[in-house]
Amino acid sequence: MHILICGGGNAAHTLAGILASRPDNHINVFLSFPEEAERWKQGLALGGGMCVRNRESELLGYPSLISSNPQDAAAHAQMVLLALPAYAHEAVLCQLASHLEPGTWIGALPARGAFDLCAREALGKLAERCVIFGLQTLPWACRIEVFGQSVLVLGAKSQVDLAAHPTHQAAAISHTLTHLLDLQVTPIANFLSLTLAGTGQLIHPGIMYGLFHTWSGEPLEEAPLFYQGVDAFTANVLQTMSDEVQAVRAALQESFPMLDLSAVRPLDQWLHLSYGRDLHDTSSLQAAFNTNRSYQGLRAPVRQSEGGLEPDFQARYLSEDVPYALIATRGIAELAGVPTPQIDRVLTWAQQRLGHEYLIDGKLQGKDIAASRAPQRYGITTLDQLIHSEETESHGQKK
Ligand code: NAD
Repeated sequence: MHILICGGGNAAHTLAGILASRPDNHINVFLSFPEEAERWKQGLALGGGMCVRNRESELLGYPSLISSNPQDAAAHAQMVLLALPAYAHEAVLCQLASHLEPGTWIGALPARGAFDLCAREALGKLAERCVIFGLQTLPWACRIEVFGQSVLVLGAKSQVDLAAHPTHQAAAISHTLTHLLDLQVTPIANFLSLTLAGTGQLIHPGIMYGLFHTWSGEPLEEAPLFYQGVDAFTANVLQTMSDEVQAVRAALQESFPMLDLSAVRPLDQWLHLSYGRDLHDTSSLQAAFNTNRSYQGLRAPVRQSEGGLEPDFQARYLSEDVPYALIATRGIAELAGVPTPQIDRVLTWAQQRLGHEYLIDGKLQGKDIAASRAPQRYGITTLDQLIHSEETESHGQKK
């Protein structure tokens, strides 16, 4: 298969190595920055390919082409994989749009919120003639070891959900990716589920809020443990945010009984499904976070300031998960008329720390909505429009 990987970071290193190690694939890598493309070429030449290592094994793959020219990179692409932070999705899709053929599968991993709306706007007319898909999470925790040469996979999810537009294509793409990536990719009913089900949007801003909402500006002695630092207060914040998303799901299903939102799981269910035996104590949400082997030792983002260490509020836990995920869910809640007081408390605090403006007087009407993934940003102002933006199939029938 001809596959185009977009991006040059941890996720792109992992995908390039895994996919190029299969002799039946042709892998091109598109990097928007020419200097980064040069570093990839040099690294690959020095290392003899991209090595992907985990605790038990390693494999080696050599992509066919590394390029910062969108036309060259996109040639013959049957599938495009955006392995990028969400803030780069739109720009990269705009660079590629005029070079992709109708019928191409175009997806992001992870998709974050409302990736379908973002991609359809960026791709223009091509959007209705290709397939857009997204994975709920990146399947791996991975870190570059040597740039352009090797990457370490610290952990892999046992299964990942995938949604597509048009929705009926999700099964074929999931089947292909399950085979190519050697992990279970499960098709789910629609992108709306993927947006609401994103758990990073709850966990990352929720724990940042729990850890730092009372921070007075005093230097920190060290970076606090992130997941193991979840105390009873933070666990309650996370549980309440998750309950609010479930209330949105219930309201949507009340209005649209045929809409399948079964993939929008409560946080504790998602933890069990994703981490299984890595959770040593599941007696409470707090215990599940504190004892998850995959989360052990991970610390909150901090940075050095003049006075010492301080929380890094520009790190992705807020700068990616708020505008490109939680704001999309909050926008859907607003369309559904479901109050979300805990999510609003977290957002009000986070927007101030980010220096952004989303919620004003309890409504999504701040100036930074224009650069977010809220459905309202794409001109969607009613639930009917939102549901029918997915597809006008039977699931969208109103009660
Ligand atoms: P990364 O920081 O390693 O990737 C950065 C790369 O993205 C850059 O090297 C560049 O190639 C590209 N990029 C950045 N800004 C760009 C722009 N404006 N235009 C074009 N390209 C740009 O990120 P990553 O670790 O590969 O993660 C990718 C996504 O996966 C992120 O959303 C991240 O939150 C998510 N994720 C990563 C992990 C992990 O273990 N690495 C785990 C879970 C989720």
